[in-house]
Amino acid sequence: MKAIVLNQPKDFSIKEIDTPSIAEDEVLIRVKTSGICTNDIRDFNGDCSYSYPRIGGHEYCGVIEKLGSEVEKKGFFKKGQKVVKYIIENCGGCYYCKRGDENICEEHQNSAVFHNAEGLSGYGGFAEYAVAKADDLYIYSEDTSFEKMAFTEPLACVINSISRTDIRFGDDVLVIGGGTMGLLHVILAKLKGARVILSEPLKERRDKALNLGCDDVLDSLSGDVVKRVKDMTEGRGAQYVFNTTANPKIAAQAVDMTSPTGTVIMFSSIHPNHPVPINLGAVHSNQITITGAVSPTIAAFHQAVRMIDKGIVDPAVLTEAIYDYQDFGRAMQEAAKPDTYKVILRFGE
Ligand SMILES: [Zn+2]
Ligand SMILES: [Zn+2]
Repeated sequence: MKAIVLNQPKDFSIKEIDTPSIAEDEVLIRVKTSGICTNDIRDFNGDCSYSYPRIGGHEYCGVIEKLGSEVEKKGFFKKGQKVVKYIIENCGGCYYCKRGDENICEEHQNSAVFHNAEGLSGYGGFAEYAVAKADDLYIYSEDTSFEKMAFTEPLACVINSISRTDIRFGDDVLVIGGGTMGLLHVILAKLKGARVILSEPLKERRDKALNLGCDDVLDSLSGDVVKRVKDMTEGRGAQYVFNTTANPKIAAQAVDMTSPTGTVIMFSSIHPNHPVPINLGAVHSNQITITGAVSPTIAAFHQAVRMIDKGIVDPAVLTEAIYDYQDFGRAMQEAAKPDTYKVILRFGE
């Protein structure tokens, strides 16, 4: 099969490698689309300390090409079915897995996704074929497009983030950053019955948010943003603030924009991860909750599949461009621009 192999940071080749073999409880997936994530870009640039060579791509989907003997016997999956794979290598046995917090699994960081002394590391979605345990698979119906399916993992991350809150009808929700993940937050918070405000420096992105149903927008580069959020929320700040940007300065501001009794969710990783000064006295006296959200739990992943498959959300409104995988270099350049939405690779025809 052909695969996009990252030999070293910024050095990739598209080459022929052995199609992976499958164990009895696994299936071989013929990859159809694979979204490019911010993490893939950091990975590409060598901003992560993973082992090389690597095959990136965790936002992939495809069709079942081949079933392991046990999977075949059970009869639940069939060749040709449209599927996505839950991407966390959850062990099922650690404290967090047992609690239903599979996204924090202790074993995931030790998996071959990040380090593999014997060969390839990575999620493996930037290749013509990928292997998955049948237990990790979710089936899509025949008429859902591969383009939409590629959004399962990003949407699931945002569902996990929204699930960290208890948004009530009429609550003020502030989303900081209007990229793909920010706008997915806008869409889901609207479905929860909130009044949603987006803070974003680019006008085109603010306009896009308004088109997607966002109630109010503000330009994060003009004037005192914290004050403006308070002005828009009767002086309180927002009940829920989702920070989808990596800038440490903005993370500190996010706390200041949170209303007493409110919650601020650090959705994005902070990059570079400089310590952020926070007014903890105000956190104390205003009973503010500061929390994070990373990767989807199994429950969030399942919900994302249902939402896309039933057409409750149409994530394809956030597709910037779809490239043939052989144009990987160009696709990465496009994805790395600060103003683009989701760039997707297509495998096969
Ligand atoms: Zn991702
Ligand atoms: Zn675990």
